[in-house]
Amino acid sequence: KPRGRFPAKTYVEGILNEDRILLSRAITIIESNLESDKVLAKDIIQGILPSSGKSIRIGVTGVPGVGKSTFIESFGKHIIAQGHKVAILSIDPSSQRTKGSILGDKTRMEELANMEEAFIRPSPTGSTLGGVANKTGEIRLLCEAAGYDVVLIETVGVGQSETAVHNMTDFFLLLMLAGAGDELQGIKKGIMEMADMVVINKADGDNVRKSRLAKREYQNALQIFPVGDSGWSPATSTASAIENIGMDIVWGKVMEYKKLVEKNGYFYRNRNRQEIQWMYNNINEGLKDMFYASEEISNPLKELEKDISSSKISPVKAAELILEKFKKSW
Ligand code: GDP
Repeated sequence: KPRGRFPAKTYVEGILNEDRILLSRAITIIESNLESDKVLAKDIIQGILPSSGKSIRIGVTGVPGVGKSTFIESFGKHIIAQGHKVAILSIDPSSQRTKGSILGDKTRMEELANMEEAFIRPSPTGSTLGGVANKTGEIRLLCEAAGYDVVLIETVGVGQSETAVHNMTDFFLLLMLAGAGDELQGIKKGIMEMADMVVINKADGDNVRKSRLAKREYQNALQIFPVGDSGWSPATSTASAIENIGMDIVWGKVMEYKKLVEKNGYFYRNRNRQEIQWMYNNINEGLKDMFYASEEISNPLKELEKDISSSKISPVKAAELILEKFKKSW
């Protein structure tokens, strides 16, 4: 048993009393891979669960260099000035490889990191995106129970992690730049489709005119997507994170969105859908782990691989055989 662990009740009470130190320690337990910590983590989550959820969750993504850290620093300060408490989390599955997260780095959000109303935590590490997303999802609940009524979850816009962030937030913000040439390049259509708002950052100096043009182009591009169940048409705006310009517009849009979807019920439907999806994601991953970990499966699989290579069996037939085997052994 690791030293310095308290009973779950201590963490739960500390978190509900908005104690940052106990919140941090509880997060460390969530992030831990020790079996005893996993048990403790479950008890902590169970204890804070009824007090979580009372926040607006905002996902922030964009390619490296677009200005995510700078934007979050500026946006976070603006939100705090409106009387809120902000937690900043991130999902960065690559942080395992790069030894320490490139996102949520406090040195890149210096002013915010020193504010009492802000809580910044870098991405948990993990070998799978699902594992990292699970931990961030739980950390988010802890922060909410500790009184952070705005949660920003950041991810780098280059892979699957946007979908994970989209699945655990209410509002999805895509940061873009007024690029040279094709404005829509470098960002996948699927990510554009997820965006509730596209913000053209670095709209300062010589870049202002170009940014306004880009904003208009995105506005047109977004119109091709049908308005979904939320009833919200994605917003666009320009901003300069470095000059603190446009943060009021972005926050205004978040509030407008929240008002709309709370009224039409989408806010609750979407959260409910997300929670159920979260459960299924875990079941799916758990099943896969169980399946491949069993020798009754992994040994014949190796044989089937050979049989496929020598054209003795079709891939579809091989899959069928192994699934039959699983069904019987179950
Ligand atoms: P991230 O990789 O998306 O987190 O981007 P950073 O926040 O680290 O910013 C990348 C670079 O862009 C840094 O040199 C920032 O100073 C700069 N930057 C960020 N926002 C702005 C902005 O609004 N205007 C200008 N001119 N530069 C910015």
